Amino acid sequence: MKTEEHFNNILDDIISKIEDEKLLKDFFKNIGETITFGKQYSFLNILSILSQKEKAIYTEGFHTWRKKGRFPKKNTGIKIFAPVFKTIKKEDEEENEQEEQDEKKKLLLGFKLITVFDYTDTKGEKIQEIEEKIIKRNLYKKNAFGSPSETFEKTKKLMRYVIRQGYKLRFKDTGDAGGFTNGKEITIDKSFKKQSLAVLCHEYAHCKLHFNKKARSIDNIQKEVEAGIVSAIVIAKAGLNINKEAGYISFYAQQQDKEKKRKLIFEAFKFALPVAKEILTNI
Ligand SMILES: [Zn+2]
Repeated sequence: MKTEEHFNNILDDIISKIEDEKLLKDFFKNIGETITFGKQYSFLNILSILSQKEKAIYTEGFHTWRKKGRFPKKNTGIKIFAPVFKTIKKEDEEENEQEEQDEKKKLLLGFKLITVFDYTDTKGEKIQEIEEKIIKRNLYKKNAFGSPSETFEKTKKLMRYVIRQGYKLRFKDTGDAGGFTNGKEITIDKSFKKQSLAVLCHEYAHCKLHFNKKARSIDNIQKEVEAGIVSAIVIAKAGLNINKEAGYISFYAQQQDKEKKRKLIFEAFKFALPVAKEILTNI
């Protein structure tokens, strides 16, 4: 399969999920769990892996598994993107003394597809580090979560984190909005509800992505989908309902044609995933 075809398939797969609340919820939950418990991947490879194997936790190539004493089972490969570099010699334009290693520069030519295998699709010697990741993930799922008290704890943690990042928090009656921000101050509804976690994630995402000096010039649809994705990943992983977020994302994403939709989704995940990861590792 060609790289571009695979790339478009992934985006179309996500777009089809956007129309189905249940699929979307599972999808966001899986992203949250992969970010927290799985191997560290680029945002594109998280999407690529999850589109092929929802519960993947740790992938390696065939030869790496063999070296670790494990053997991939038949027909279990997962395609991921691997960067293709060209090594070029630096030309001596300036007369400064460079270290030898600086004379060669890597130029990114593009991406190719390579096949990797998830740990659970291989057999052989147990690898402690990965077994522990699986145990942690299973334990997390088994424990009661999504309870009001846990959500409350997580919300408080996120509040403290947001303040540590230099933002002000304000509580007042916000009506239907639930919250809003001007990039420096986040206002959330004074009635401390379950949705506060979602609202705080959403507004924090706006602050991080849409108000700083380097912020891209993008339209409101793009902004809302990005903030919606950050919020959906965090609260889906916390076991909370994402109906509101799902409705939000699909409402905004619906209004685009196919090519525009793909571009919107690609860009939105590219920027939303690091913020979701930042939140998840701090609450
Ligand atoms: Zn918003």
